Amino acid sequence: MAFLRRSVLSIVGGLAFAGLAQTASLADVSSDALLQAQDNGGEWLMYGRNYLNQRYSPLDKITKENVSQLKPVFGYSTGGKFAGLEATPLFHDGTLYFTADYARVFALDARTGTVKWYWEPEYEDGLEAVLCCGPVNRGLAISGDKVYVGTLDARLVALNIKDGSVAWEKKIDEWQNAYASTGAPLVVKGKVIVGIAGAEYGVRGYVRAYDAETGKELWTRHTIPGPGEPDHDTWPGDTWKTGGASTWQTGAYDPETNLLYWGTGNPGPWNSDLRKGDNKWSCSLLAIDVDTGEIKWGYQYTPNDAWDYDGNNAPVLMDVTIDGKPRKVAVQANRNGFLYVLDRVTGEFIYASATVEGINWTSGLDPKTGRPTVNEDKRPKSGGDKVEPIIPGLEGGTNWFPIASNPDKGIVYLNTNDWVMSLKAWKPEDVVYKAGSLYMGVDYQMYRHKDKTGYLKAFDVANKKWLWELPSALPMFAGVLATKNGLLFTGDQLGNFMAVDADNGKQLWRFQTGSGINASPITYELDGKQYVAILSGLGGDPSFYFSGPKGGMLWVFAVDGEVKDTTSFNPQLIETALPVYGKQ
Ligand code: CA
Repeated sequence: MAFLRRSVLSIVGGLAFAGLAQTASLADVSSDALLQAQDNGGEWLMYGRNYLNQRYSPLDKITKENVSQLKPVFGYSTGGKFAGLEATPLFHDGTLYFTADYARVFALDARTGTVKWYWEPEYEDGLEAVLCCGPVNRGLAISGDKVYVGTLDARLVALNIKDGSVAWEKKIDEWQNAYASTGAPLVVKGKVIVGIAGAEYGVRGYVRAYDAETGKELWTRHTIPGPGEPDHDTWPGDTWKTGGASTWQTGAYDPETNLLYWGTGNPGPWNSDLRKGDNKWSCSLLAIDVDTGEIKWGYQYTPNDAWDYDGNNAPVLMDVTIDGKPRKVAVQANRNGFLYVLDRVTGEFIYASATVEGINWTSGLDPKTGRPTVNEDKRPKSGGDKVEPIIPGLEGGTNWFPIASNPDKGIVYLNTNDWVMSLKAWKPEDVVYKAGSLYMGVDYQMYRHKDKTGYLKAFDVANKKWLWELPSALPMFAGVLATKNGLLFTGDQLGNFMAVDADNGKQLWRFQTGSGINASPITYELDGKQYVAILSGLGGDPSFYFSGPKGGMLWVFAVDGEVKDTTSFNPQLIETALPVYGKQ
């Protein structure tokens, strides 16, 4: 029997109410609207708010002075298995669009907090055995009159924005071989761009473009070069076929260079003895021509990675003056413990700065190229002793959760973690590729090693210096939102959703959401009022390490927000709750 059948009516207002969707016409989201997303302060139209992935809102009605008066306007339970929420909601034309856990999609009327439509994928048995990191989904894309979502069984689905019905659906790859789609798609110039997850299972990663209208496949760019392609020789023998370098996060796009900037994950298997060489383009940033899929340049953060230092976190693109010279940069917070500043036109390394203390897998980066000098005693050897402590642990320095920026000031804001790991590599004969089975060849353990593990930090890219930090007892796994008037929003594993002063890191307000926060906040304006929204729900990797309460809520806040009259909250629920006595 398939799990997650639609008959599991744990969602209040699920498919049964789809027919009640508002009939008012929705404004289509044009390619121009996406290009100009930053100027549209009231809406949040794509994953990183704009193509440059800046997560920087011009809205200013919530201020440092009144943020302490933020109150919840409504909360909405996503129900289901409470398997964790990692998405960035979108806001368009009075509606909030977001995903939960198994790529379930919600469209909520933002005025009332009631569901307009809901869509849930059906999956076949066995799926959960091929998900490395929990059943999670990071969000949607909107374009034209459609909403796009990737599913855990590696499908790309286009839903009609007005009612959530399926417009088209494409199989991206074989889920039985552990290909999965967990990142939010990105729509550029009428193309839906998707990546793929599965590097822990020996997939071969790629970035792919589909026609947004029809779903026709337009191009596929493998992250690992095949025979005859440049850098193919960085893989011995047939190792390139199962070499990982997955693309599980959303990329950024620069209309000026016409390039996508897409991160890649670890090489497979984790045991680096079994694939000696640089293993390009694993643990890298790829600049890809959005029209053709050609790689313009690649930059590899961690050659021959042995530590699962995925380089997937999407870079923030901005223009800053560094050493007196105007630069067009890509800023990327990496799991290997460094924040990288690259020239996004040429791929040139400009500089990097350590995000965490005590990095010991490398003795340092080459100041010209950024290539790390590896401390070989921190590289586990096949069948050798357990290696510990390794800093940072595989969850990183920082991980996939999005960083925010103030491009006017050249500052980025990110959550980081100070923790360590042990690694022990198996004997080569025990590491055998089998499609759909874990292909890691190591055992690992993560540990805390300081009083405080998580930190919200601010980094001045132009002046190459860290400005402040706000510690948290547990690791941080939430994204960050910055506003032009100096506020930051983020969340912690204790369930606190918080507002922070971007100038000094002081916490100005917080609200207990009831479960760990592993998603990213947005802000938008509706009927002249500014709102902030966040998904709360422990899941994904953090749930491997914490036993905190599970949950699944969308919380929406405003200054002087009023809690809605409960009779306006899904009146359909009351109508359908029980049969009326005497009428049967
Ligand atoms: Ca990985």
